[in-house]
Amino acid sequence: MMVRRYSCGSCNRSYKNKSTLGRHRRYECGKAPFYKCQLCQKQFYQKHHLKSHVFNRHPEFRLLRF
Ligand SMILES: [Zn+2]
Ligand SMILES: [Zn+2]
Repeated sequence: MMVRRYSCGSCNRSYKNKSTLGRHRRYECGKAPFYKCQLCQKQFYQKHHLKSHVFNRHPEFRLLRF
């Protein structure tokens, strides 16, 4: 039997839940991918911003690779 899926009209991704699709539409679709600090979950749109954030805020982890 077919599983009903909700697909995004803009990028053809499909999701099992309407709410997941809504979240995608609101936060992901058409947006630049972002980089997330693994230490404090802060998000950055540019990789070098994340790097300088880690460098300044988490100096003990500055050797980590992202
Ligand atoms: Zn989409
Ligand atoms: Zn951080």
